[in-house]
Amino acid sequence: MPKKPIKQGYKIYGIADHGYIYNWMWSSREKGYQDMVLRPTLTPTGCLVRSLALSLPRRFVTIYLDNYFISVPLFVELRACNFGAVSTTRPYKEFPQYLAELKNRFALKLEWNTLLAAVVQGILCLAWQDNNIVLGLSNIHIVDKAEDFREKARRRPVKTSINGRIIRKVFGSDYVKDLQIPYFIDDYNQYMGGVDLANQFREVYETHKPTFRNWWPLLYWLIDVACINAYRLYRLSIVSQRPLTHLQFRTELYCKLLSYSEKAKLQSLRVQLGGKRVFNPDVLHLHYWKKRPKQGTCAWCSYRLKCEKLLNRGIKGVAKRSVTGCSFCDVPLCREGDCWTRYHSNDVPY
Ligand SMILES: [Zn+2]
Ligand SMILES: [Zn+2]
Repeated sequence: MPKKPIKQGYKIYGIADHGYIYNWMWSSREKGYQDMVLRPTLTPTGCLVRSLALSLPRRFVTIYLDNYFISVPLFVELRACNFGAVSTTRPYKEFPQYLAELKNRFALKLEWNTLLAAVVQGILCLAWQDNNIVLGLSNIHIVDKAEDFREKARRRPVKTSINGRIIRKVFGSDYVKDLQIPYFIDDYNQYMGGVDLANQFREVYETHKPTFRNWWPLLYWLIDVACINAYRLYRLSIVSQRPLTHLQFRTELYCKLLSYSEKAKLQSLRVQLGGKRVFNPDVLHLHYWKKRPKQGTCAWCSYRLKCEKLLNRGIKGVAKRSVTGCSFCDVPLCREGDCWTRYHSNDVPY
């Protein structure tokens, strides 16, 4: 990437939804883009977007693009392939000059919600005044009918925002106000960011390690993507009231993959113990005793017994049942003994 300190590197172009990366294409500094079908009307970047779109399992979906990729011919081409396309943009060559000029010269002057649009080769190009002038492209929106706008509760931007004067005029002293905004903007805000989401999920638990071989990062990336995709599918398909958090899912995943190991099995039991246990003494006050509507098996006793069984210590017994438990964790716990303390302790011994 241009601003990264090293000259070597890969770029990966992905198409994603809900943080699930459906497909991607490599490019390296040395070899450029991987092989793909080229089209005379499109730049190589445009061809790349087209290839990724065509790899999707179906047509008639809308793709929200990063402004790095877009051009009017690409939007025309995507439409011809039965894809919707929406993006914001920076001013560039084929974008109507007068709209681009608005951004440069009148960003601080135009009233809030001023909307100017032009159609170029059947593609809607628009400039919309918000905090600043937003330039956009769409092959599925129109803006000349009342139903092309919707009412949306908007929060007043901070005073220091560059267009404070214009904004204050609209909001007055209100922090939130219902305002009519174009569907284009609402859709963009709502659906853009499938790839960003994937990146956020990946960054928190990266498997990447420093290496001396330049292809290792690609393998790490593939592992990360496989894990994140699995997690996103899990979250989309799960009907449980208490789905695993990302961390619990990743822990479960390695426990299952390494299930021949005793330690992994114990770790897995620990994950099942629940995610709301206290890891911070400051939030201890959130947990308090509560009588439960039904008697249930003490969470700590049953955890301990499962561990013992796993370690084959020959200890037999039945987990105690209790009508009391923690209201915050929503689990039964024995009133007597140290089940409460041990369950709520960060340091869970095996
Ligand atoms: Zn609790
Ligand atoms: Zn107990």
